[in-house]
Amino acid sequence: MAHVSGPTRSLPGSHHKLPAGIACDDCGAPAARRIQGETDSFGAEYIDLCESCYQKDQQVSTTTESACNWCGKLANDTQPYRDMEEGMCGPVYQVCGDCRKKDAESWAREI
Ligand SMILES: [Zn+2]
Ligand SMILES: [Zn+2]
Repeated sequence: MAHVSGPTRSLPGSHHKLPAGIACDDCGAPAARRIQGETDSFGAEYIDLCESCYQKDQQVSTTTESACNWCGKLANDTQPYRDMEEGMCGPVYQVCGDCRKKDAESWAREI
């Protein structure tokens, strides 16, 4: 079972304290880590994994290309990113390096 928090400022991939007695979401073994998954303005989903499922997960996520939510291009440097106009607890997008750079530059110009 995944667990859902309330609205949160932390981003997908952050690590959280794991309560005792939780089973791995993938294989049912005792979980060793709680990682933040899907995050939106309503909250975050937590994924509880044992050490071996966590390592498998890491290998998959570092080698996949995913589409940027902003420009639609496939990139291997997309990262969870928030639109500052929507606030620190707003929706989270997968954004490529180019778009993150452009966004940071446009904010720098406004300040
Ligand atoms: Zn497992
Ligand atoms: Zn992009």
